Amino acid sequence: MATERTLSIIKPDAVRKHLVGQIVARFEAEKLTPIAMKMKHLSRQEAEGFYAEHRERPFFSALVDFMTSGPVVLMVLEGDDAIARNRAVMGATNPQNAAEGTLRKQFAESVQCNAVHGSDSPTSAAREVAYFFAQIEQCPR
Ligand code: ATP
Ligand code: MG
Repeated sequence: MATERTLSIIKPDAVRKHLVGQIVARFEAEKLTPIAMKMKHLSRQEAEGFYAEHRERPFFSALVDFMTSGPVVLMVLEGDDAIARNRAVMGATNPQNAAEGTLRKQFAESVQCNAVHGSDSPTSAAREVAYFFAQIEQCPR
């Protein structure tokens, strides 16, 4: 299986609820190893650029409000099949549809305030990692 890197975000709702440690511990337990990590309060421009694919969606403005409502934790996770495995550990976008044992089942409040983000394909992972992290900030194990 190929070693991959994927972008993970612990969203403002989870940071506010002091869930950073529990979420990072889960990733480490799954061998989704953080190789870069920083806390950041996103500007509107940064959040809009990050979620540009959703610009035309009715929830876009509310999503940007939410993602800029407090600091987030940005991480690059590395591991075997990391992109798909991170999505599996996260669970479905809407916590009502998320499987038992997933982060969103455990921690998400709503379809908007859903605790974590994860890149959804190799193309988005490459774009999203580069959006927030320089090569020199990534520390492979
Ligand atoms: P993410 O990209 O954050 O990992 P996702 O890939 O599971 O989530 P997307 O369809 O890419 O889901 O939506 C991006 C984010 O927009 C969601 O995580 C959620 O915060 C918000 N969102 C999605 N659908 C809705 C909706 N119907 N109403 C409100 N917010 C939504
Ligand atoms: Mg998405």
